[in-house]
Amino acid sequence: MGNRIRQVASRVGTAERDFITLGIATGAILMFVGTGGSVLPMIIRYLRGMGAAPDAMLVNALLLNIALIIFGWRRYRELTQEIAERRQAEEVARQLAETDPLTGCLNRRSISPATDQLVESSRAKGQAVAFLMIDLDNFKQVNDLNGHAAGDRILVRMAERIGSLLPAGALLARLGGDEFACVVPYDAGRPNYVDRFCEKLIDTVPAPIADPGISVLVTVSIGIASTQMVAPATAAQQPADAAKCAAEKTVAQALLHKADIAMYQAKKKGKNRHFWFEMPMELELQVRNEIESGIRKGLLNGEFEPFYEQQINLETNELVGFEMLARWHSPTLGDVSPEIFIPIAEEIGVITQLSDQLIDAALLEAMQWDPRLTLSVNISPVQMRDPWFSQKLLKKLILHNFPPHRLDLEITESCLHQNLGNVRVMITSLRNQGVRISLDDFGTGYSSLSQLRSLPFDRLKIDRSFIQELQSDTANPELIKAIISLGECLNLPVTAEGIENVQILETLKQFGQLKGQGFHYGMPESGSDVRRRLRSLKLLKHSGAGADLPILVPEDMAKSVGQTG
Ligand code: C2E
Ligand code: MG
Ligand code: MG
Repeated sequence: MGNRIRQVASRVGTAERDFITLGIATGAILMFVGTGGSVLPMIIRYLRGMGAAPDAMLVNALLLNIALIIFGWRRYRELTQEIAERRQAEEVARQLAETDPLTGCLNRRSISPATDQLVESSRAKGQAVAFLMIDLDNFKQVNDLNGHAAGDRILVRMAERIGSLLPAGALLARLGGDEFACVVPYDAGRPNYVDRFCEKLIDTVPAPIADPGISVLVTVSIGIASTQMVAPATAAQQPADAAKCAAEKTVAQALLHKADIAMYQAKKKGKNRHFWFEMPMELELQVRNEIESGIRKGLLNGEFEPFYEQQINLETNELVGFEMLARWHSPTLGDVSPEIFIPIAEEIGVITQLSDQLIDAALLEAMQWDPRLTLSVNISPVQMRDPWFSQKLLKKLILHNFPPHRLDLEITESCLHQNLGNVRVMITSLRNQGVRISLDDFGTGYSSLSQLRSLPFDRLKIDRSFIQELQSDTANPELIKAIISLGECLNLPVTAEGIENVQILETLKQFGQLKGQGFHYGMPESGSDVRRRLRSLKLLKHSGAGADLPILVPEDMAKSVGQTG
């Protein structure tokens, strides 16, 4: 700050001195014209010996005059040079402030005013403007894999590729990280033009990069917002949106906001594609933001509760254990399904905290059950990325004094796509301690048979979508039979999820020795409901459990809960 003030002060000082110099030089020239006109001829005449010597004072004045003119001229040249240098420095500073040093594109700061200008000039020509938010897919992984220097080279190549496709008059900016923006004027009646441009980007940008250190194809996700969408008429129809537009001050900011939302949608729908902004996306984002902040608050306020679903030996009808299923009772959103909040908790990085809370509560609960009953818990792929996961879990078991053989971890096939080596080490060390591992939702992912053989699973759980097909008239049980015989070949017992009725149950029973679970046996229940159920069945630790687990048919179970509840 001090430096800046000194610079400004010195600039003001220089300007004053220049003014004085100019005054002196002008005065000197005027004097030269006034005195030189008479003194110079006198000097020349004297030098030729044709006249008397001029007055020494006048000669001195003339010499001083000439010196002043030379001084003024030199000062003038210095000044011109100084101004040129200053202009150049200002130009460099402006460029630095407006462009991204890595790619030479405009930066986040300058794209807004540049967009506003382009929107204005395009409107004058009757054109619309599309704002494209372009994000490189999985760039973080590319960076992690190839190193940051290679990441930078990729960004430069991407900028060049996008730039080479840019129509005349369009703008290109790097907003930061792996995010670019294009601003493209187009004929308002022909939005296809923008679609075609996006398709060209999606086709061209991911071409292989001719760089020995880089072996990746980087695809792009694009969100588009148009000035057609931020027109006052649209805003007036949508009061909430109008308020938002007002808060966003400029058209450019509104476009950026909407394009960002559309880009998020493109990512969500599988990446490597483009999406135009639509109003429901904004609502979806609002809901998502609410869920995000709700999860964070809920974690602090203890709003998450483990529920339990019975797992039955289908052959004997015995209750063998429970699967813990997370439930969220949000005071603002009501009961939210784990299928909604688990993926968001994973994305915002709180899944481990959430799972820890639930597992702790479930272990406490399960410690009260008959020790023959098992507890299954679902583990997210994100948790499996933690190299200390198995140690932390085993420590938890010791802390709760929970026998490892009573715990069954359900992991999904997506765990196997990410660092298979690590997962194998984790599974092996957990199994060595007695914890059992099931492959959940089998059939919905892409696990290869060799993965199935090489990973030491204890059980396969057939996804409920296959089981539920059994009740349709056109049911084709061949796939389920194939999975069950695959399990037999690999020596893996199988659990069928989603048994909703007797028809499904009876069909499944014909296929082999299975465990099963589903709404046919009752909906997932809270810990206290499970305790009540188990007390009536004498399966609570302190309720005098019998030597054998009783055979339970659904009617019995409903009755026993009814009696005690
Ligand atoms: P999942 O592990 O496959 O759990 C089974 C899901 O099927 C549960 O849904 C359960 O309520 C539902 N279900 C059980 N029987 C039937 C049936 O007969 N018919 C139908 N239509 N559905 C049935 P829920 O509780 O909504 O959980 C959904 C998924 O959320 C779970 O699928 C699991 O992947 C995940 N999840 C739940 N709790 C947790 C958790 O604590 N941690 C993690 N990482 N994921 C969890
Ligand atoms: Mg499960
Ligand atoms: Mg499942």
